[in-house]
Amino acid sequence: MSSSRRTFLYGLGAVGARALFAIERTEPELILFNGNFWTVDARQPRAQAAAISGGRFFAVGSNDEVLALAGGSAKKVDLGGKTVLPGFIDAHSHPAEAGLSHLRMVDCDLRSIADILKALRERAAKTPPGEWVLGFKYDDTKTAEGRPLTREELDAALPNHPVLVEHRGGHTAWTNSQAIKLAKIDDKTPDPPGGKYDRDPATGKLTGHVREHGKDTFEKVIPATFTRDDRREGVRLITQMMTRSGVTSVTDAEGTPEDLRAYQDARESGQLSMRVYCHIYQAHMDQMLAAGVKTGLGDEWVKVGAQKMICDGSISERTARLSQPYIGRPDDFGILVTPEEELYQQARKAHAAGWQLGTHANGDVAIDITLRVYERLQKELPRKDPRYRLEHCTVVNDSLVARIKALGAIPTPFSTYAYYHGEKMKEYGPERVNHMFALRSFSDAGIRPTQASDYPPGPFEPMMALQSEVTRTDMKGNVWGPQQRITLEEAIRVGTIHGAYASYEEGVKGSIEAGKYADLVVLGRDVFKEDPSNVINIPIERTMVGARWVWES
Ligand SMILES: [Zn+2]
Repeated sequence: MSSSRRTFLYGLGAVGARALFAIERTEPELILFNGNFWTVDARQPRAQAAAISGGRFFAVGSNDEVLALAGGSAKKVDLGGKTVLPGFIDAHSHPAEAGLSHLRMVDCDLRSIADILKALRERAAKTPPGEWVLGFKYDDTKTAEGRPLTREELDAALPNHPVLVEHRGGHTAWTNSQAIKLAKIDDKTPDPPGGKYDRDPATGKLTGHVREHGKDTFEKVIPATFTRDDRREGVRLITQMMTRSGVTSVTDAEGTPEDLRAYQDARESGQLSMRVYCHIYQAHMDQMLAAGVKTGLGDEWVKVGAQKMICDGSISERTARLSQPYIGRPDDFGILVTPEEELYQQARKAHAAGWQLGTHANGDVAIDITLRVYERLQKELPRKDPRYRLEHCTVVNDSLVARIKALGAIPTPFSTYAYYHGEKMKEYGPERVNHMFALRSFSDAGIRPTQASDYPPGPFEPMMALQSEVTRTDMKGNVWGPQQRITLEEAIRVGTIHGAYASYEEGVKGSIEAGKYADLVVLGRDVFKEDPSNVINIPIERTMVGARWVWES
C-alpha cells in the first residue's frame, strides 16, 4: 500500500460531506464534478463530485466541497450533470472461456437455422476436412423455424467435418455423424452417469443432441489447441466487451489454472480492463491445494475465488433438477450431475483447506442437496464467515430461503433471464416462475443476492439486468414471476455492493465512497427518470476502473 493511500484511509469522515482530510496533506489526482452520483453508500446516497487518488476515491461530496480539495495538479473532469453509478459486479460468468469462444468458435446467436447452417458452412470452407467446426451461443427457442437443429441437417451442411454446436447455456450440444463417430458412441451406447445422448423414440437412433456429461464425451475428443497468447487475447477481448457495458468486476465461475494465468498475463500486458475473482473448478483443485493456494490469494485485479462444484443441470436448457416435472414432460425432472456424497467429499476437502465454496444448483432439489452439504460442513468444521455460495440458486421455496438465511449463504441468481429467456419460462409454469430468480424473497429475508449473467448463457449488460429485475418482463412484453420484482434502488445494490460482499470485497468496492477503488460508470441518461421498460436502451458513456477510463463512447 502506497503512503499516499494510507494517508487518506486514516482520514476523518467530515460531517455531511464525508470528504476525508488527510493527516498528511495529499492531493487528489483527478476530480470528477458536476455529476449526478448515486453512490450506494447509505450514509451519503447522492453526491455531485468525487476526488480520486492512487486509484481510489479520496473524497465524495458536493461540487464545492470536493473542488476545494484540488491542488494545482489535479485534473478536473466536468460530467455535465450525467448520472454516475458504482461499477457493476457480475458475480457469475465465464469470461476467459467466452473470450476464447469469441476468438475461435462460430457465434450461433442467429435467428434462423438457415443462417446458423450458413455460418457453419462458411467456417467449414476455411477448415481442413476432418477438423472440428465448433459453434456456441445457439439458442433452440429463438430461431424462426421453431424447432431445434437436427443431426441430418448438420450432416448435409457439413459432410466432411465433425461439428459440435453448443447451446448458449453450455450444458447441451448438437452434433453430426462425424462427431458421433469420433466420440466413439453408437445407438447402443448407454447414457453416461449424469448425462444423456438423446435418441429418436421410434428408432432408437442417436439424434446428435447430447446433454450434461453426455456432452463431455465429445469435448474429450476435441483437441485443445489454444496457446498461452490466445488465452491472453481472449481475456483482452472479453474484458473489453464487458467494460463497454458498465461491468467493472467479474467472478469467473469456473476457472482453471490456465485461465488464472491468462488473467495475470492480460494484466501484466495492460490488457485486463476489469477485476476478476476466479473460482477454480473442482477438477483442478488437487493442483491448487498442493500449491497451498486458497481463496483470497491475489490482489485487487486477479484474486482466487471459491472452489466451484456442479450439482445439477441448466435453466436455459431445461435440465435443472426439479421436485416437480417440467410442464408438458411429466417424466422429466431434469438431471442431477453430482450425487450428494460425492459433492460433500469434494466440498469438505476444499472447505477444510480454507476455501470458499460455490456450487452450481438451479433446481429446488439441487439447492436442497447443496444446502445440506453446507449445513453439514458448518456443523462438522465450523468456519467464521464462510459465505457459502449457491451459484444460480434459481428455483426456491420458503423453507429453502429460510435455510439460506440461517446459513448466511449467498445466492447468485440469473439477472437477465426474465427479460432475455422469457419464452423458456413456459416450461417451468407461472407458479414456479414466481419462485425463480427470487430477488424479492431473498431481499425480504435479509439475504444478499448478487447480479450474475452467467455469460454466455445470459447477456451480461447491466442495464438489461436492472430492467429484467425491476419489470420481470421479457422482450415481447410477457411478464414472468411478478412477485419477485424489486425496486431500481434494490437492483442497483444487488449489482454492486452485494457482488462485492460475495467475494469478501465489500470494504474496497461496490459503492462510491472514500477509500474504495475508483470503479464507476457514467450513464447517458438518468436511470431513475427512465421508463423501466426502456432502461436497456440507456447508453453507457464511460466506464472507469481503478481511476482509468477503460471505455469512453
Ligand atoms: Zn455458470
